[in-house]
Amino acid sequence: MAKAAHRKSIYEEAMETFHRAADLIQMNPRVRLEIEEPDFEHIFYVTIETRDRLVPLDAVERKALGDLPPSGVKAGDALEPLADGTFILHRRALLNADITIRQGVINIPGKGFFRIEKGGPRKFKAYRVQHNQVRGPYKGGIRYHRDGSLDLFKTLAADMTWKTAIAEVPFGGAKGGIRFDPMLYSREEIEAITLRYVYKLKSLMGPFIDIPAPDVGTNAEIMAYMMRQYTDGEREHHSLRGVVTGKDVRIGGSEGRLKATGQGVVYCIEEWARDRGFQIKGARVLVQGFGNVGSATAEILAAHGAKVVAVNDAFGTIHADAGLDVDALVKHCQENPANLKRTVAGFTGGTAISKADFWALDADILVPAALGDEIDGPVAEQLKVRLVAEGANGPTTRDGDRVLAARKIDVIPDIICNAGGVTVSYYEWLQNQRLERWTEAEVNQRLERTIKSNYAIIRDIARNTPQRTPLHNSRRYCIGQPVDVRTAAMVLALKRVEAHYLLEGFSQ
Ligand code: NAD
Repeated sequence: MAKAAHRKSIYEEAMETFHRAADLIQMNPRVRLEIEEPDFEHIFYVTIETRDRLVPLDAVERKALGDLPPSGVKAGDALEPLADGTFILHRRALLNADITIRQGVINIPGKGFFRIEKGGPRKFKAYRVQHNQVRGPYKGGIRYHRDGSLDLFKTLAADMTWKTAIAEVPFGGAKGGIRFDPMLYSREEIEAITLRYVYKLKSLMGPFIDIPAPDVGTNAEIMAYMMRQYTDGEREHHSLRGVVTGKDVRIGGSEGRLKATGQGVVYCIEEWARDRGFQIKGARVLVQGFGNVGSATAEILAAHGAKVVAVNDAFGTIHADAGLDVDALVKHCQENPANLKRTVAGFTGGTAISKADFWALDADILVPAALGDEIDGPVAEQLKVRLVAEGANGPTTRDGDRVLAARKIDVIPDIICNAGGVTVSYYEWLQNQRLERWTEAEVNQRLERTIKSNYAIIRDIARNTPQRTPLHNSRRYCIGQPVDVRTAAMVLALKRVEAHYLLEGFSQ
């Protein structure tokens, strides 16, 4: 009987670049074994009590209850809307209310007919993968998303080890999160889930142990909950602010951190453009994902005179051939309380198009800034861009990579392209340790120097042009032959990680 073909896991597929680079630098075999798997994989569960919900009736159910008298709910703001049309029923909604409930259904004028669904205890699967700490404390984002898995968090944690090495910040790599869709939970419930997550993880984290940050589905508000829960009851809690980064600037966050990942993407694009004699002003840009990374990248590129001609997100795509008004699009997504999904869909300053049409648009630069594995072989075949600048982690599959290379479309790989976030996270952590505050100009100056010098080293490794300039020195890293840019970035990361094992030795 033919043996079933082994389907590679996301981790195995992502580690192909690692193995290719490790072979090329003839990595010390013990170091290779040490870092090809994570140090620790933590899987645990968190439970919370959820609130009662008002779930919209479907048309048939509604018809059967068409004569249900309307209920007068005075404290309308006590019904918290969720992205799926459900409302969280806060108890104060019942104060002074004049209510009729029939068969568990309520009719609220202006909102509709709803079944009251009882809340109660719920369980969520949680993860924290600590990949490597030889260069410093574990560091990496927390993702709240329905597709979280051990395999995915392993992949993203390893990426953080490579990224912190490339950015030359004294951290290791980690990633974690909780498997749920935050759009379907109230703010209070998300706070409770976050507090419980940190309660369980507390002994494994700390400013010198493991330092979380925001990622997909999390933000500065969630970092504040994490910091509070971690420092609660500690005598010197002010000295522990560096336990998380990506905080609001008013509570120990850094100027420039909110946009740092997008800013780093743009510094990389600037270097690519300088190399290619390409003008960013007037360039046509496609952006996928309009959350933290996508929106900041689009704003900064637009400020440089580029035209963001289309943006795709989880709920739609918007297109304007002459260029979208990015500031207005940001307002539409971030400042409109009715836009619960924070989606570009419904933006009136452009035309809605399909995702398939988005990939095939004529443009110069594509910035994927959503989830992984979006640019597979067939998508890569359709692209009409010159550059893919990977704002997201792992947006290109191996097949996609092969097609891009064959079609001579340049790639700036994720582990340098989106390293701006973790670099400024390091500045935030430093400011927390020193009780300092830096200006946005200081932050960006340092970020630009770091990103551009390491970008130049990777370019030299790729072309095999070892050199020393006032900005960078690539002599130690070139390997005597040209390689593709993704492998070059990995070579830089592995040489920096390996140096620690070779110079410090192994603790026994
Ligand atoms: P976010 O939650 O702020 O935004 C995610 C965006 O992606 C949203 O606009 C969402 O609608 C969109 N999206 C989700 N699924 C999609 C799909 N199937 N198709 C199209 N769009 C989809 O997340 P973020 O923090 O901006 O992170 C985006 C990417 O950048 C992730 O890959 C993340 O790991 C990576 N990243 C983030 C940071 C950071 O500092 N936040 C740093 C480095 C890398």
